[in-house]
Amino acid sequence: DLVAVALEASGSGGIPRSSGLADDLFAHNGQITKRPVRALALSALAPRPGERLWDIGAGSGSISVEWALCGGAADAIEAREDRAANIRNNAVAFGLAHRIAVIVGTAPGALAGLETPDAVFIGGGLDAAMFDAVWSQIAPGTRLVAHAVTLETETLLVELNLRHGGDLMRVEIAHAGALGRYRSWEAARPVVQWSVVR
Ligand code: SAH
Repeated sequence: DLVAVALEASGSGGIPRSSGLADDLFAHNGQITKRPVRALALSALAPRPGERLWDIGAGSGSISVEWALCGGAADAIEAREDRAANIRNNAVAFGLAHRIAVIVGTAPGALAGLETPDAVFIGGGLDAAMFDAVWSQIAPGTRLVAHAVTLETETLLVELNLRHGGDLMRVEIAHAGALGRYRSWEAARPVVQWSVVR
């Protein structure tokens, strides 16, 4: 149990209350939304107890877990079965299996029949057709947050921002790393976040 082991090693009094938990607390295959960027995603998603999230392209389910830790429920939609298995394991490790439903399939098709959400996070599979399908299925007042790493998805977010408003933010983070005998900044790929209320 990753969570129990990590918390014991840190000698802490439980899971931290802030979003942006250590990546190591989650079973993942490398494609996880990294800790500082995840904290910014949760800040924009603005979870409140009792609310429902659609986590589209859920990967490891780290966004769903942090949403559910705030007292909500999440539908984690993930195309790949091996990643869906990570989501199930992470939900169990955090004691949140009762509040995270894993849907294996591709959005938008896999969204059919789900209870309408209070917020949507799109972390994978975004294209114009998927966005249109999601937008038409969510109620006015629903919060939507999308992250783009590729130029193609970023271009779509720029267009969607022009059409629907909301906020565009570019996140550029660097970590100190070794450069020979010295240290230097190692830049992570920029992430563009679009957040909007339907
Ligand atoms: N936020 C995740 C990382 C997402 S990586 C985390 O923190 O772990 C993007 C994921 O989207 C990948 O796992 C990929 O399999 C999934 N994906 C891509 N297109 C999809 C689609 N149309 N429907 C559902 N999942 C999709």
